[in-house]
Order: sequence, then structure tokens, then C-alpha cells
Amino acid sequence: MAKYSSKINKIRTFALGLVFFGMIIMYGGIFFRDSPIIMTIFMILGLLCIGLSTAVYFWIGMLSTKTIQVVCPNCNKPTKILGRVDMCMHCNEPLTLDKTLEGQEFDEKYNRKIK
Ligand SMILES: [Zn+2]
Repeated sequence: MAKYSSKINKIRTFALGLVFFGMIIMYGGIFFRDSPIIMTIFMILGLLCIGLSTAVYFWIGMLSTKTIQVVCPNCNKPTKILGRVDMCMHCNEPLTLDKTLEGQEFDEKYNRKIK
């Protein structure tokens, strides 16, 4: 699974990280139980992180419907493209839907224009 680095997988890892981060923050709040205000702030921040990750998961669901299924020319496996350029989920081959970018160096910045 570690070799997967297409965009959706990156976002999913980010969302999972947010859940853990939120839990760490809430756990940190326990050390401030003498001060209810600080503890409450920690709890709210932790809940915000977890809430945000839920939103990110929801966003992934939305994005998944916008991906385009293609067959990778390199490994001949079906993969999904998100945005103008993305990587193959199986072999990390850079893929593009934009003919003007074909053959060019893979660059994440090509995706920024459409955001
Ligand atoms: Zn491939």
C-alpha cells in the first residue's frame, strides 16, 4: 500500500492523520484538567480536527465520482486520474488527459490552475 501515491490516496492518508492528530490533542487536554478552560479548548480543537477529517473523507467521496478511469499505458492496469495530471496507482507512471502536457515532465503544479 505504501507505493500508492496517487492523489486520492494522499488525501486519504491526510484525513487519517487528522483523526490521530485530533485524538492526540484531546489526549493532551487531560494534562490540563486543573484548568477547565484550557482543557475545553483542547477538546474543541481535537473535535475540530476529527470533524475536518470527516469532511475530508466526504470530499474524497465527491472526488472519487469525478475521477476518470483509464488503462495505464505502462502497466496495462486500470487506474483513476484526478485533475489534469495524476500518477498511476500501480506503477506511479505520470498520466495526463491534456494533450499539450503529454511528454512533459510530471509536475504537480499543473493541477493548481483548476482548483
Ligand atoms: Zn501503471
